[in-house]
Amino acid sequence: MIKNLLCRLIGHVVDRTHVWNDNYDYRTNCRRCGQPMIRDVAGWRLFDPARDSDLPRKPHPNDRDAEAA
Ligand SMILES: [Zn+2]
Repeated sequence: MIKNLLCRLIGHVVDRTHVWNDNYDYRTNCRRCGQPMIRDVAGWRLFDPARDSDLPRKPHPNDRDAEAA
């Protein structure tokens, strides 16, 4: 995938127009490859389920709507 290669070489593109909050941190997706990202104290990085699932984070608002429907 050329998109993933670009992300690995020059970094992910934070989609600042679709940022949301999961009760703990700000979240969004890479605008190029679509991978989930999270903003921690050092800045934006990829969301890491092994490291970031320790807190009862709220799901994405769109997911919440899907559950309610
Ligand atoms: Zn990316």
